[in-house]
Amino acid sequence: MTAVNLDQLNEPQYTAVTTTEGPVLVIAGAGSGKTRTLVYRVAHLIERGVAPESILLLTFTRKASQEMLWRAGRLLNDTCSRVVGGTFHGVANMLLRRFGAELGFGSSFTIIDRADAEGIVNLLKSSLGLGKRDKRFPSKRAIINMISGSVNKSIDLEDLVLEQYSHLSDHLEEILQLQKHYGEFKFDHGLMDYDDLLVNWKRLLSESPAARDEISGRFRYIMVDEYQDTNLVQADIIRGLAHNHENVMVVGDDSQSIYSFRGADFYNIMRFPKEFENTKIIKLEENYRSTQPILSLTNDIIRNAEEKYTKTLFTSIEGDILPKLYVAKNEGDEAAFIVKTIRKLESRGVALENIAVLFRSGFHSYKLEMELAVENIDFEKRGGLKLTESAHMKDVLAFLRILVNPRDNLSWNRIFLQLDKVGPKTAQKITAFISAAADPYLALPEYPAGKTWKDSFNNLVELIRELLSGNQAPSVLFEQVLAYYLPIFYELYADDYPKRQKDLDQLGAIMKEYDDLQAFIDDTTLDPPENTGTDDDIRRLVLSTIHSSKGLEFEAVFIIGLAEGRFPHSSSGFGGQWEEERRLLYVAATRAKKYLYLSYPRQLMGRDRRFSFAPMSPFLAELGGGLYQKIDSASCSSDYRTGRFSGKPPTGKKTVRKTVRKLKMSDFSVGCKVEHPFFGTGSVKKLSGSRSLDVLFDRHGLKTLHLDYAKLKIK
Ligand code: ATP
Ligand code: MG
Repeated sequence: MTAVNLDQLNEPQYTAVTTTEGPVLVIAGAGSGKTRTLVYRVAHLIERGVAPESILLLTFTRKASQEMLWRAGRLLNDTCSRVVGGTFHGVANMLLRRFGAELGFGSSFTIIDRADAEGIVNLLKSSLGLGKRDKRFPSKRAIINMISGSVNKSIDLEDLVLEQYSHLSDHLEEILQLQKHYGEFKFDHGLMDYDDLLVNWKRLLSESPAARDEISGRFRYIMVDEYQDTNLVQADIIRGLAHNHENVMVVGDDSQSIYSFRGADFYNIMRFPKEFENTKIIKLEENYRSTQPILSLTNDIIRNAEEKYTKTLFTSIEGDILPKLYVAKNEGDEAAFIVKTIRKLESRGVALENIAVLFRSGFHSYKLEMELAVENIDFEKRGGLKLTESAHMKDVLAFLRILVNPRDNLSWNRIFLQLDKVGPKTAQKITAFISAAADPYLALPEYPAGKTWKDSFNNLVELIRELLSGNQAPSVLFEQVLAYYLPIFYELYADDYPKRQKDLDQLGAIMKEYDDLQAFIDDTTLDPPENTGTDDDIRRLVLSTIHSSKGLEFEAVFIIGLAEGRFPHSSSGFGGQWEEERRLLYVAATRAKKYLYLSYPRQLMGRDRRFSFAPMSPFLAELGGGLYQKIDSASCSSDYRTGRFSGKPPTGKKTVRKTVRKLKMSDFSVGCKVEHPFFGTGSVKKLSGSRSLDVLFDRHGLKTLHLDYAKLKIK
């Protein structure tokens, strides 16, 4: 056995690692080694003879716990991989499958995501005849937000609506009615949404002392990373889990709490010592991630926060490169700056995968994505639409879901809707027919199919029979589903199927790693894989929402779109929301080790497609002087155009683009064929406005493009 070298910890980290019994709270700023301390603690506990299976490590994503256990394994040995690690939802799922009977439901429930939940609300709305012709009736999204909010914030739905959604209070009765039916629908069909997983886990611990004692007896050491982003239900779960021993260590940073929209409550950190008497509170104050100039800036961002508990950090990492602020003329110019700087960083030896571009919302990077495509810079985007969230993926997954839960009517309905000539009414009728039967699979062939769709229905019956025959590996089932689904897929998505097909390939590759279908479905629903568009292993630039960058670090970080209205988001108002936006910026900036670039476009295009001038984000405006260096946009663009920067010689593409930019409106006419580097070929449908046109692209549909920014070529 390798001895875990605790010399590599500073004093408070050492105390946190070696205080193995009793409640411990580590509260510390970004980059101070909280996560690393947890890793060492896992290895240390096992080295001291604790069984790996009796350690529970709760993290924000599944990937995070896998990586932490991998690191612990490097410090000690691979017994660390036997530690139970995962998200609250993942562990809830595991325990509920085992102990679900205690709460009155079986082990074959299906987990539903947000889109599924909204789909159910829609179904219920129409079956209950609610909101017909009422434009002010809350949307399915708002209804799920309210229901979920009441669960996560542990308040009655009625109070939540009256206090936080008062503009919808006229519809209170209907909202409560929908909540009731939504709960019943899920129970009847063996479905659980994300919130149910947590709530039922909490119930299990409080309502079944036998289950609680067994679970608390099994997990003797509990550790939680990113505790600032847990909600009240999760705090209660921790309380229940530690019931028999109180060996629980949570680590977090109140200044990085960014999930209040999901009910997270950073007061959980403050409450912890009250919940657990004798809590040892440990603060870490040395930052090991960033250079002093970056740290000075991030300290200053949070200095202005209304409420904060953690202290200012210091670092011993030397470095004299100030963070840079680039005020771009427009989004195109901002993208050009980033490309130019990435080239420069690469020439200084910074690897592409060590560079991240961070933004508040997924759509803020669209312009940059086009530019990167033109420049042939490989990138992967995190935090956007997940792989399993698009319609075609849900179509395919529906077949797999009914195999593990024949009562999953949502999926049956989805499958029937794919049949040619079958509309929502008929789909619902078939679903009702089979769900009334004792065995939906056996009932299916009995359904009297209509003449026009009998053949396709028979094909479906045949497929289900095939899928059910024998115990087949998930990847074999997937192939069978594809053989059936692809012709439907080509028909349904005639305009853009090549792009979507890549998603199917990616899912197929992931599936090969599983031999248990239930595990595959749970994992992809609970922690949906990022849609990288491909499954190869090339090293790429990281494009990420700030939320998805939590806990990570990069050599160089760009934070884009730092304009008022974008960051903070225009709907933030003042107070809590505003403060959360500030913390979001803090999380983003603290990801950087050596290089930090802030930027925003002075000219922004609004939803109405009009341009307006955007002032700098107030969070930047309030920073103290001398914390960053401003770069002049004119100097950057001229450098760029003349190719004077050192990274890469000007390519043919840039020359083309220069000429392209000179195109005038009069060069175009309706019907004229054009080519765009990202959208491909298309034809002009309309000349709209003085500098913009509507183009119908063969593979990407209708887009409105601005002549000054779109890199169009006339064919
Ligand atoms: P965040 O709040 O962003 O999640 P964190 O507090 O979890 O940050 P870590 O990610 O654990 O911080 O650590 C930040 C970096 O500092 C990592 O690269 C880690 O390896 C390094 N580090 C932490 N503690 C030490 C130490 N004592 N000696 C050397 N490097 C350290
Ligand atoms: Mg961390």
